[in-house]
Amino acid sequence: MHSVNELFGSMVFNESVMQSRLPKDTYKSLKKTLHTGVPLDLSIANVIATVMKEWAIEKGATHYTHWFQPMTGITAEKHDSFITPADDGAVIMEFSGKELIKGEPDASSFPSGGLRATFEARGYTAWDPTSYAFIKGKTLCIPTAFCSYGGEALDKKTPLLRSMEALSKQALRILRLFGRDDVKRVYTTVGAEQEYFLIDEKLYKRRKDLIYTGRTLFGAKPPKGQELEDHYFGTIKPRVKAFMAELDEELWKLGILAKTEHNEAAPAQHELAPIYTTTNIATDHNQLTMELMKKIASRHGLVCLLHEKPFAGVNGSGKHNNWSMCTDTGYNLLEPGKSPYENAQFLLFLCAVIKAVDEYQDLLRLSVASAGNDYRLGGNEAPPAIVSMFLGDELTEILEAIESKSSYSKREKVEMQIGVDVLPHFPKDTTDRNRTSPFAFTGNKFEFRMPGSTFSIAGPNMVLNTIVAEELSQFADLLEQASDFTAALNKLIRRTIREHKRIIFNGNNYTDEWVEEAERRGLLNLRTTPEALPLFAAEKNVRLFAKHCIFTETEIRSRMEILLDNYIKTIQIESLTMVELVKKEILPAIIAYTRELSAAALDKRSLSAEIDISVELDTVRRLSSLAACIKTDAEKLESALVEVRTHPTAVEQASFCRATVFVAMQELRTVVDEAETLVSAKHWPFPTYGELLYGI
Ligand code: ADP
Ligand code: MG
Repeated sequence: MHSVNELFGSMVFNESVMQSRLPKDTYKSLKKTLHTGVPLDLSIANVIATVMKEWAIEKGATHYTHWFQPMTGITAEKHDSFITPADDGAVIMEFSGKELIKGEPDASSFPSGGLRATFEARGYTAWDPTSYAFIKGKTLCIPTAFCSYGGEALDKKTPLLRSMEALSKQALRILRLFGRDDVKRVYTTVGAEQEYFLIDEKLYKRRKDLIYTGRTLFGAKPPKGQELEDHYFGTIKPRVKAFMAELDEELWKLGILAKTEHNEAAPAQHELAPIYTTTNIATDHNQLTMELMKKIASRHGLVCLLHEKPFAGVNGSGKHNNWSMCTDTGYNLLEPGKSPYENAQFLLFLCAVIKAVDEYQDLLRLSVASAGNDYRLGGNEAPPAIVSMFLGDELTEILEAIESKSSYSKREKVEMQIGVDVLPHFPKDTTDRNRTSPFAFTGNKFEFRMPGSTFSIAGPNMVLNTIVAEELSQFADLLEQASDFTAALNKLIRRTIREHKRIIFNGNNYTDEWVEEAERRGLLNLRTTPEALPLFAAEKNVRLFAKHCIFTETEIRSRMEILLDNYIKTIQIESLTMVELVKKEILPAIIAYTRELSAAALDKRSLSAEIDISVELDTVRRLSSLAACIKTDAEKLESALVEVRTHPTAVEQASFCRATVFVAMQELRTVVDEAETLVSAKHWPFPTYGELLYGI
């Protein structure tokens, strides 16, 4: 057993390994690339590759792969061994700088939304030295970005890196205005809390819906759900505990700062929270975390469900994306300051986020849109589909006082001069933190709670970085021209609060009153994925992404196409699975049970005409009519499915899926779930909710 210290990062080619193993000059050049973004030249890459290979072989690696994040949302890898034939018939282990820097995977089987068809058939992967290489199993994994030869991004990493660059550039302009010339770069930081379910593998294998779709498509409510609220933070069962311990160890080896593990609200639901790091590393780490959760679960006879809504009637799973901005000198830009100047700077960055969230509600909403997440957003559990912001009472009061030029209630009656006066002290809300808000300020960071549990966090963070970069650039344009900086700053902050305060809501986001209130305020309520996704290509958004060199219009349209296609296919697969389950398992079970009941009734009758057979008769009658309904509803679903592809565009197909196919699925489920309550446990063909949720 190794100590945590020895384990931590032992499989990562991180800065300390580089420093101790690379020649001094090479390390210096690489560091420059890491911290300023200047490209690396091939001679240096050759040296790094050789050292990296030697390190990897010592750790038992035989292969290497460019590890990347295509639009499927999961990671991709193609393993090559280090083996190269030598003249004498033996082999040597080789790895060149060229192989480190660039790879050419066969790109044709990854979704590109038509990009490769119109441009260039091949794609290539390029080393991202800002995320460390690591060893998984016997393979050296090199984090890479994936692009087409025309330069279009084919992955989730490239736009994320572009957005971090954009934010850094604009934030530096603001910091210069505050005289912070020491800062060379601004990073966004992220800590992604991951929710998941664990169920028994033997039960899982008997449910085709879980196998094909990751969620239960049928299932009557069990007698006990989460109403007693006894699972959240409850004692962790030994089998789950063993899983968590092994998961922590594996994550630590990869340098992932797994920190907190606890039970969540629903039975069988748990959460893992890491300590935050820079956004691109946090993104890689979250992908690895999800992958390892699945792998390690199976070592414990468990299955890890990452779907947003594996079970109807109990909470679904999300991913809380804690986000902030941090300078390379280690200063958190969303930390309220101690001096007037620091406070002014804090308020300006805060205002940039407020304005960004208000003006780009649509982008934030669609960055978390998927068939699975539609069940959460809008259900009475996760944040609603309406984007708003929680700032807490104290901070909100301060902003109101600033806006109205009135004094903050706890001070004497003088107007506050931002940049001159000290902000009134406000305690960080820790007690009554608003758990219902989709975007909550939690003291020195924002917690974006809308992302679904299966999501790559690359998309939502790319949007966040870009929209905040945009507001910072507008602010910088204005303030750089100002002759009186403090006066211009005061005016800008007041105006931003006045024009965008509608996005601030500290109340309960789950109520119907909020839905009405939000409508009065003119906030968007994009309930479903087909409503949200088309706004990706809205003119203002195309302009935004082009201005900050994140996406061209072509890239936006291709991505929208991929996301819509994914939505349509998900609904189709779920429908087909339902139909198959009905035909192969559910109807046969009902028929078998009713036959048994009928036989029992006949047997009783043959004994005596007086024996009561009403239970058998009533059940047979009810089940027979439910079976007929099930058959009709399944046929309706099948014919709706056939109609999907007759609609001309992806947007129309997706809308049809939601309006018709989805509704047919719900109807079919309702009758099947009623039948489940009437059929004997012996006859019901797959494990029930009760067994799945309490099976460990
Ligand atoms: P909780 O939300 O459960 O009360 P915390 O507020 O301590 O827990 O942290 C939640 C997550 O936010 C953790 O992953 C933590 O590392 C992350 N976090 C804390 N500070 C920052 C920051 N400045 N930037 C990004 N994430 C942060
Ligand atoms: Mg949290």
